[in-house]
Amino acid sequence: MTQHRRITGKLVIATHNPGKLAEMRELLAPYGVEAVSAGELGLDEPDETGDSFRANALIKAAAAAKATNLPAFADDSGLAVEALDGAPGIFSARWAGPNKDFAAAMAQIERLLQERGATTPVQRRAYFVSALCVAWPDDHLEEVEARVEGTLVWPPRGTAGFGYDPAFLPDGHTRTFGEMTSIEKHGLPPLGLGLSHRARAFVKLAEICL
Ligand code: IMP
Repeated sequence: MTQHRRITGKLVIATHNPGKLAEMRELLAPYGVEAVSAGELGLDEPDETGDSFRANALIKAAAAAKATNLPAFADDSGLAVEALDGAPGIFSARWAGPNKDFAAAMAQIERLLQERGATTPVQRRAYFVSALCVAWPDDHLEEVEARVEGTLVWPPRGTAGFGYDPAFLPDGHTRTFGEMTSIEKHGLPPLGLGLSHRARAFVKLAEICL
């Protein structure tokens, strides 16, 4: 087995999304990692042509590592609905269209679930996935993936969070991600629940790399 490698010094965050960047910086801050973003460095955004979350995270991290000669960190994430054979999956962002209309994307999922007669919670199982990848210029990779499982509710509830949050009820909870504060959803213990797919993946990455 190859040895894990620790992140030291500067790290490129391979995202052009300001929301993700802020979240990643917040998670990395306690580890003394100096994070610079691909957006700030003016790097091109590679096409996400992979067929899995993991493959897309790798494409983004590797492109940024090569372009900067620094270690680079990227994530890919999405919602998988079991009754829809894992859709929207890696196309989660695309289902919302160019206007990022997640109300329409949630309604589309609901239509498809209704067509399949999926009305009970057990027929409405879904999970969020987060794949994280750190790539070094010498091609060393560290990769982790985590999920949070739950059910889809209709109508969506809550105005917090983003994307599909209001439709997702994590197992063991009575409030959707859209009804939780960011600390409840993502925050790591002792302040938060460390509940989200991203928080869980980050904990795994921190164990091996930070
Ligand atoms: P990415 O930017 O390619 O990783 O696409 C992620 C997409 O998946 C987002 O645009 C959201 O639609 C969805 N997604 C990922 N994580 C979450 C989450 O925590 N809450 C709600 N939607 C999410």
